[in-house]
Amino acid sequence: MLKLSRFLRPYRLEVGLVLVLTFAQTMSSLYLPKLMSHIVDIGILQGDVAYIVRIGAWMFAVTLLGGLAAVAASYCAARAMAGFGQGLRLRLFAHVERFTPHEFERWGTSSLIVRTTNDVMQVQQLVSMLLRMMVMAPLMALGGILLAVTTDARLSLVLVVLLPVMGLAIYLVMGRGLSLFQVLQSKVDRLNLVLRENLTGARVIRSFGRTPYELGRFDTANRELTDTSVQVFQLMATMMPLVMLIMNLATLVVVWFGGAQINSGTLQIGRLMAFIQYVTQIMFAVMMVSMMFFMIPRGQASARRIVEVLTLEPEILDPDAPRRARAGEGGVVEFRNVSFRYPGAEEPALSGVSFSSGPGETTAVIGGTGSGKSTLLNLIPRFFDVVEGSVLVDGVDVRDLTQKELRARIGYVPQRAVLFSGSVLENVRYGDEAASETAVRHALDVAQATEFIDDLDGGILAEVAQGGANLSGGQRQRLAIARALVRRAGIYLFDDSFSALDYRTDARLRLALRGELGPATILVVAQRVNTIVDADRILVLDDGRLVGAGTHQELLATCPVYQEIVASQASSGAIA
Ligand code: ADP
Ligand code: MG
Repeated sequence: MLKLSRFLRPYRLEVGLVLVLTFAQTMSSLYLPKLMSHIVDIGILQGDVAYIVRIGAWMFAVTLLGGLAAVAASYCAARAMAGFGQGLRLRLFAHVERFTPHEFERWGTSSLIVRTTNDVMQVQQLVSMLLRMMVMAPLMALGGILLAVTTDARLSLVLVVLLPVMGLAIYLVMGRGLSLFQVLQSKVDRLNLVLRENLTGARVIRSFGRTPYELGRFDTANRELTDTSVQVFQLMATMMPLVMLIMNLATLVVVWFGGAQINSGTLQIGRLMAFIQYVTQIMFAVMMVSMMFFMIPRGQASARRIVEVLTLEPEILDPDAPRRARAGEGGVVEFRNVSFRYPGAEEPALSGVSFSSGPGETTAVIGGTGSGKSTLLNLIPRFFDVVEGSVLVDGVDVRDLTQKELRARIGYVPQRAVLFSGSVLENVRYGDEAASETAVRHALDVAQATEFIDDLDGGILAEVAQGGANLSGGQRQRLAIARALVRRAGIYLFDDSFSALDYRTDARLRLALRGELGPATILVVAQRVNTIVDADRILVLDDGRLVGAGTHQELLATCPVYQEIVASQASSGAIA
């Protein structure tokens, strides 16, 4: 909670105003019963009309001021609260953006979404409430007690019994509320997870006929959430009547004893009326505090979940003293005895890999599924850090470069082409915001995408649906390639980026690429041997080990794993 208070700092003025205005509002409501008792006891009993009008006017003014203060306080609180939420969400988003894929997996996408939206809202509500009640509740309780005692000390003895009873009731209910709200939040997370998986995997679920199963899964999560919510609301529902009951009983007791005192002439009616109002105000203050006790655990649970994310240092950090890589045409990638293990995995995904690829060279990576090809490529833009050895880009260890500089040197086409909602043009410009339309069209040309884009309604301005859902796999891949091309980077990484293309398009694309990328280093993960026979260097991976490196001819002569791959593809007719 305290860690989050700094997000209120820009709104110091509003916060200060809320405190002052709430103070004024509370003072006015404490003052009014006093005035009323004067009207009754002096004005009405003595029949002094002028006095009644004078005090009445004064009461009106105090009420008006109190009301205005209340409105202004709400306004300032709303401003502070909205700004606080905005700042906090931005900070969370910016922080999460720095996470590695592994950290995303650890938290779960849906949990991160809930934390950024719902949890922030909970904290916002708590903050705005605390701002008002922090001043109002104690002031009203203490002021009420003080005024009640000065109004009639003997009647005030009622409070001595009343307050502990109320405190106990609240304490009992509160203890249970604390744990329930935490459970509630985790149920919300769970429901979000199931919902997300279902919405993104709808097609797969349907084709495997798993709809009933998923329905059951959703039903369970939904019901668990409902059950917990019901428990929470039940608890809240018992709280309010309980407080009201105690409050009404208190009034009853006060009227009982007060009535006797009026009969015996030791108390005036106006004073009794004022006393009842003070008791009500004291009770009201206690109720506010009890409500706070309800919201604090809830807000705290949310705050904890937010702080949890904010305090997690991303695994990949910029160095304290970054170095600058060599400038120049093209790029150099070098692996020096690199080993890597995914966090939590038993087996290393890469062990002892060394190679180097210079400007103008194409290095192909081949190997069975799970042999570590994607992993090898992912180490270059530093999506993960090596466990042993080092990865060098343009002569500098990637850990010594800022991530910004490192990634500016790389054009990366992932295994799964990820597109964003927006036009084709916007998607390609994702690679380089400043790219001219001519440059974008050229990149699309090289990526062999022009043909199908011309057929789209709107051409280059055609809308791409969220995730590229309205394009075929091969079309998505070509857009992802064009996006990398406009970067004009020194190093290009293609992670099996041609897998969804037909042979003809694949061949044309490769030809165009080499001409286009001239001095750049190209690292390409491939499945089909016939697409890499011309590569300057082929790396053969087997279970994370580099079992062969060389040209097609060299490997054919020396590397058994490579021979196997070639043989298997030849027999299936994949190699001409
Ligand atoms: P390839 O691209 O050659 O098919 P990968 O590099 O994707 O293989 O994976 C290499 C190995 O690392 C596999 O055994 C895979 O199960 C494991 N692996 C890949 N990604 C992760 C991850 N995020 N967390 C844990 N293990 C992973
Ligand atoms: Mg892969």
